[in-house]
Amino acid sequence: MEIATKLPGKIRDRYAPSPTGLQHIGGIRTALFNYLFARSSGGKFILRLEDTDRARFDERFVQNLYDTFAWLGIRWDEGPDAGGPAAPYVQSKRTAGYQQYAEELLAAGRAYPCFCSAERLDEIRREREAAHSGETGYDRRCREIPAEEAARQIAAGEPHTIRLKIPLGETTRFRDYLLGDVEWKNNDVNPDPVLLKSDGFPTYHLANVVDDHLMGISHVLRAQEWLSSTPLHVIMYRAFGWEHPEFCHLPMVMGQDGKKLSKRHGATSIDEFRRQGYLPEALINYVALLGCSWEEGKDFYTLEELAERFSLDKLNKAPGVFDYKKLEWYNGQYIRAKTSGELAELALPWAVEAGLFNNGAKGAGPSAEERERFAAAMPLIRERLTLLGEVPGKLGYLFAAPPVPPAEEFFPKKADRSQTAALLRLGRGLVEALAAATDDEAAEQIVKAAAEKEGVKPGDLLMPLRVAVTGARVSPPLFGSIRLLGAQASGERVDRALAALSV
Ligand code: GLU
Repeated sequence: MEIATKLPGKIRDRYAPSPTGLQHIGGIRTALFNYLFARSSGGKFILRLEDTDRARFDERFVQNLYDTFAWLGIRWDEGPDAGGPAAPYVQSKRTAGYQQYAEELLAAGRAYPCFCSAERLDEIRREREAAHSGETGYDRRCREIPAEEAARQIAAGEPHTIRLKIPLGETTRFRDYLLGDVEWKNNDVNPDPVLLKSDGFPTYHLANVVDDHLMGISHVLRAQEWLSSTPLHVIMYRAFGWEHPEFCHLPMVMGQDGKKLSKRHGATSIDEFRRQGYLPEALINYVALLGCSWEEGKDFYTLEELAERFSLDKLNKAPGVFDYKKLEWYNGQYIRAKTSGELAELALPWAVEAGLFNNGAKGAGPSAEERERFAAAMPLIRERLTLLGEVPGKLGYLFAAPPVPPAEEFFPKKADRSQTAALLRLGRGLVEALAAATDDEAAEQIVKAAAEKEGVKPGDLLMPLRVAVTGARVSPPLFGSIRLLGAQASGERVDRALAALSV
């Protein structure tokens, strides 16, 4: 397999996920910042699949990655599906190259073969745990095997890994864009990590460094949890004689309790947010705020606006705190910016799934008339909507007559059953006029005039009518609902309620 050699200059950054889980907030934040950085600097944004952990790999996570980013509208310039000059962009298709580079380090004395068995490594770990020694990682036993002896063992076909020979007694220094100068005593970094496994597959460290180099990555923007790997990587770049990319470790994303954002805090996978009915624009807008400062007084940004404005200077050192309420607020705002047609289109899958149409047949699409009513109902709920997933719950009463609630539900304050029935009879008399009213104002006039004439409060007149028509004391606007349902259906509901109240 041919592997492209280092590509020339310019800004090139990448999102390099391991397809071992669903895409989550932290991942898309990393991807977004890389995307924005490339876009804002005329560079290239690359997707690379780091699929060397074959035990945890699952094709469905690759599909989830593609689906998520297609939904978010974030595209890469180069990647497994898009192709590009550094193809292939999938590490499992580049294994021959990693072996070659591991051997290069071996030949240069910067790496060594390790013949320790998995059982021995387990044993070391157990002994150390029992002794509470605090030491972790490999004990470097094979580092001392003379080269000829190691070569003999390899020739005899003994299974082995290849480990990085960390130069002991030295300090590794590098600059991080956000954290400034970082230094790490080599004796404190992960002791001689494995670069190539015994099955010939590279570990994250080897594959990541080799690919960043071969793909000409100029900037590595990644989550801060990778910071402890960076000294190792810098040691490897130097061992290869390569220049390392610029590093920028992004601030952590925390929950409100100051702990790393996790499932304990709420949804983290993008699928889950999507299922609840978040809009991609809202998610992007909100995630862009996590650990990044934008303009005072401007809350809303499209992806294009973010890309125009992004710079590394806007990143914060302090962690970003994930606020579910704030995200909900953004979603509500983006929902309000949609036209009724757009909103109906977006919410339709939830309504179909909930069985809103076709007499409650789950999964059934709407008839032409139902579809029209659904779109016409959007103005009734848009102002209070935060998630698309709430739509069927709010609109069910427009597609099937709700069960008649218990009598007390109908009672306005201080009214008893017979007074309520009288009020509802009054309301019944208005249904035709209300259904024919041109707008809310006209409907209000009708109710006001009737209330005045009968000497009752308009609110008291409306409460039982609302419960009869919508099935609940709290509902989307009543007048709009009556207009949508029409005089006949609304009237029938009131008649049913009157019958129940008069028992
Ligand atoms: N494969 C690593 C991950 O899953 C990539 C880390 C990096 O960007 O170097 O996040």
